[in-house]
Amino acid sequence: MADRKTRTAWYTGRGMIYKRCRVAVIGAGPGGLSAAIRLAELGVDVMILDDKPSAGGQLFKQIHKFFGSEHHMAGVRGIEIGSLLLGRCKELRIPILLNTPVWGVFPGFIVAGESEGEALIVEAEAIIVATGAGENALAFPGWTLPGVMGAGAAQTLVNFYRVRPGNRALVIGAGNVGLIVSYQLLQAGIEVAAVVEGMDRVGGYMVHASKVRRMSVPVLTRHTIVSAEGTERVSGCRIAEVDPSFNTIPGTEKDFQVDMICVAVGLSPAVELLRAMDVPMCYVRELGGYLPLHNEVLMTKKAGVFVAGDLSGIEEASSAMEEGRLAAVSVTEYLGAVSPEIASREKARISENLDKLRSGPFGELIMRKKQDVFTRYRHVQ
Ligand SMILES: Cc1cc2nc3c(=O)[nH]c(=O)nc-3n(C[C@H](O)[C@H](O)[C@H](O)COP(=O)(O)OP(=O)(O)OC[C@H]3O[C@@H](n4cnc5c(N)ncnc54)[C@H](O)[C@@H]3O)c2cc1C
Repeated sequence: MADRKTRTAWYTGRGMIYKRCRVAVIGAGPGGLSAAIRLAELGVDVMILDDKPSAGGQLFKQIHKFFGSEHHMAGVRGIEIGSLLLGRCKELRIPILLNTPVWGVFPGFIVAGESEGEALIVEAEAIIVATGAGENALAFPGWTLPGVMGAGAAQTLVNFYRVRPGNRALVIGAGNVGLIVSYQLLQAGIEVAAVVEGMDRVGGYMVHASKVRRMSVPVLTRHTIVSAEGTERVSGCRIAEVDPSFNTIPGTEKDFQVDMICVAVGLSPAVELLRAMDVPMCYVRELGGYLPLHNEVLMTKKAGVFVAGDLSGIEEASSAMEEGRLAAVSVTEYLGAVSPEIASREKARISENLDKLRSGPFGELIMRKKQDVFTRYRHVQ
């Protein structure tokens, strides 16, 4: 049966639902939503699948104003950017299937769990995978106690569900995520005992570090967690200074009474689906570890499979949105649904926007590492 509004076809078999579209987008974060919007604007029939009960990926946790340039919505809160993207999806009548975890990606189709508990098969001529990233874990004595959580989990509880997971926190990691989450915990009325950072300097932007310090939270560089204390749940923690080889220095231990410990020690691209599909990977520490090998226009080594956002290397929502649009144009060209002249003009414009985002000392490093990925792509069959 063809739905006249979306031109998306679906029909139901026993225990299994089949759907069909020209392009399936996995992940409804800023990368996936932007990809689907551009595809629909270019007249391509598209469908989005996401495992969560609501769309937006990380955006609806981000109550702070975004940084960057005006073009990239600096000064606008993540939640507002999320609403704008979802509003546009609605205008374009893009189907977003929620509570739909994708289990497998195969050439020409994907398999997912459907909200009614049935298996869902989506046939698609091309697939954009925009599954984002997962938080890195840190093992230390007591790390499995209730009360130890990823900073992203704390952010979801506080900003999205409006639940305070504790009263006094230790935050591990002074990158942007650790600093932003610390500030948001304070806004929610949770005391932050300290932010500890193993490196000798703060990794996140100074503007975030200063905000936290102004609230009298010590940001202790060259420190790490030694252990979480407690029997049923976290009731305290021990930290210590580290030497240049990251060994703890005896005699420098400090104890804090806390009931939650937030771990913010980096993100890794969510590559599981593509790994299972045997998409060639590469390891780039500065981009989050293993990521799918891809070229300048976000094509992987599997025909018809494209990537966008944090999955292609950890950056920011602004770059995830630009990459989503770039992947959309590449896919449209791959399907022959846009002339090569129009496609190359648009790809050049988006690439220029991405280059602007990747300026400054940190951005330039990202740019160099991305170029390495593109070079490796050309050398792998
Ligand atoms: C604390 C914090 C602050 C930040 N601040 C900023 C900022 O100020 N400015 C900025 O530009 N960026 C910021 N970012 C970064 C930004 O949020 C991410 O870079 C961006 O969300 C990445 O977008 P994405 O679409 O690639 O992934 P995500 O937003 O993570 O979306 C991926 C989606 O895919 C879904 N998914 C994953 N696997 C599957 C599967 N198998 N099946 C179905 N669905 C799946 C996920 O549930 C998720 O909804 C911040 C991030 C954090 C954590």
